[in-house]
Amino acid sequence: MVLVYENDPLETEDAGGHFYHVCQGRIDQTELSVPPPDKPYECPRCGIELETEDFWHAQLKGSV
Ligand SMILES: [Zn+2]
Repeated sequence: MVLVYENDPLETEDAGGHFYHVCQGRIDQTELSVPPPDKPYECPRCGIELETEDFWHAQLKGSV
């Protein structure tokens, strides 16, 4: 698991949720925004690349 998506129950339904990177088994509390398709988010610690598609999958499934 490298990415989790959390819905915030306190927000209204159109506000959406939040993305967090799971770095080396621990959730990084820095919220991520969805990167543009040509510029994946690269984690400076573990070196993983998270692409736009990964974020959509996380949103659908809760985590990827
Ligand atoms: Zn990482």
